[in-house]
Formats: sequence, C-alpha cells, structure tokens
Amino acid sequence: MEYFLGCDLGGTNLRAGLVNATSGDVLSLISVPTIAREGHAAVMARMANLLNDIIRDSGIPTHLIRGIGIGAPGALDIQNGRTLRLPNFPGNWPNVPVADTISAATNLPVYLINDVRAITFGEWRFGAGHGANTLACIAIGTGIGGGLILDQKLHLGYGGKAGEVGHTVLDPHGPRCGCGGQGCVETYASGPAIAAMGLKAITQGLNTSIGALVDYDLNRITPKVIYQAAMEGDPVAREIFDRAGQAIGLLAANLIVAVGPDTIVIGGGVAQAGEILLDPIRRTIRNLIKIFSVDEIQVVPARLGNDAGVIGSAMWARERNLLRAPTRVQD
Ligand SMILES: [Zn+2]
Repeated sequence: MEYFLGCDLGGTNLRAGLVNATSGDVLSLISVPTIAREGHAAVMARMANLLNDIIRDSGIPTHLIRGIGIGAPGALDIQNGRTLRLPNFPGNWPNVPVADTISAATNLPVYLINDVRAITFGEWRFGAGHGANTLACIAIGTGIGGGLILDQKLHLGYGGKAGEVGHTVLDPHGPRCGCGGQGCVETYASGPAIAAMGLKAITQGLNTSIGALVDYDLNRITPKVIYQAAMEGDPVAREIFDRAGQAIGLLAANLIVAVGPDTIVIGGGVAQAGEILLDPIRRTIRNLIKIFSVDEIQVVPARLGNDAGVIGSAMWARERNLLRAPTRVQD
C-alpha cells in the first residue's frame, strides 16, 4: 500500500488530501483559503503546513507516504518544479521554486502539474475515463481547459502546453478571448460566455424567464441561473446551452479526428448542467464527423468532482516517482 499527497493550488482555495494509490480514495481532505495576495512565500508556507498537518493527522505511517503532487493553474517548468506564470495570482509567480520549497519543508519528493492536466489524469485513473486508452478531457468553468491521455499516457507536449483546448479557434474573426486571440472556443462556451448569452437575451427583449429569476439584477446571471430556467422549460435558456454544447462539440470533433480518443470527459462547473449540454455535444460530433464511425466514442460527464485535482496530482506524483525509480527500465 502506498499513498501520495495531492494538492490543488487554486486562486481561492488550497485543497489537499492523502490519496490511496491503489483505490483512489482520498483521506484527510482539507481546504483552506489560498490568500494569494500575501504572495508566493506565504502561500507556500501555508501549503507546507497544510500538507504536514494532513500527514500527521492521517495516522498513515510516514514511510508509506511517497510523494506530493501539486496542481497549479498556469504555465509550469515541470522538469524543475517551478511555476513560470500563474495568470490569476498576484505577481504571476515567475520562476518560483515550488517543488524544492515544499520538498524541503516536508522531506518528500514534489512534482508540479498543470491543474487541468491533473484533473484529466485523475479522471482517467479513477473517474469517468477509467479504462480508456486514449482520452480527451474538456473542463468548462470560468475558462476552458483540458488534457489528453494518448495511448495510456498523459500527453504533455512541448513545454507541457498540450491540452490548452479552450483556445482552439473556431472562428478567426470571432469574439476577443482573454488569451489575446479571437474566436477561441472559450469565448463561446465558458461560464462567462454562457452568462453573457443570457444577459444579451434579456437586453434584446427576448421572451425568457432568466431575468425574472434574478429579479432583473443582471449581474446575478450565471450559468446556474440559465440552467434553472432551462429546466423550467425556458426555450431561450435551452437554446443557450445548445449553442454552448455545439461549440464544445465542434472542439470535440476536431480533437477526435486529430487524436482518436475512445472517451471524451466533460468536466468543470458548467458540465453540471448534464444532458442539456452533453446532448448537443454528442449530436454535433455525429453531424460533423463522416470519415469514420463515432458510435463507440463515449462522451461522459466527469465523476470525481472537486476531488479530481487532488487525486490527479497525487497520482501524477506516483507516476513521476516510478519514472525516477532506478529499478524500473524506462521505455
Ligand atoms: Zn483564447
């Protein structure tokens, strides 16, 4: 039996837990505020304390705890365990030696991984993608991230950049994206994009119940409110999710012909909408791909919820430990 710690470094919360590497069960899960404004040294000190508390309180003998994986939202130097740019963190954390710092404080090997690649890895090992040979994960929240498992291996690509699927361009003349580009799928199907469609529908005077649900306080429009309207039968709200689903479906279709996944996992907060989002994704894939049959490709909702990042980063630490171990012949 061996255990790894997984830590999800979020802009709002630090979540961490001890993961049983055989079962994927999470023990001693703790979430504390990140308080990112205090800067990287304070956040890393908080993280080290959190991890040491978990180790101590878990009751698991320390020799069974083999390493730590940390999922971080941004560009990383995975080889050297440093952050390159965390766009949502004050100061952006350029060249911060997270792995060495946390390793010194915990006496365990520490590995960094992009947060959505961690979710992808977790869903593949113990979640909705379990057993897949090739998998694409699309996580829809404030932005759209993703990850790829190719032939049972997490695909990192040059500089760990593979999986930034939210910035696949659907229309080069489309709306401006937060990345600086135009017409990325994120501008059509992210949480803010869905909320913006709801806002537009109201200001255009369309016949919809979305406005009444927020007492016409348009700042309160969220994908959740639009989902509620859709569930109550509002056709405008249903159409909004249908359009977002079609954009994700177009992205998925392009991924399918490029990398041949047998499973596509749809995660992130927006994916909680379930079938009203998944149905147009599946329909669009069927409508667009004619070169081969897509009948056997599974398009499934993520299953690990908020634990995916913790489980995935812990399992990534295990993977990296195996690669390092001198007893194993590397292929
Ligand atoms: Zn973009």
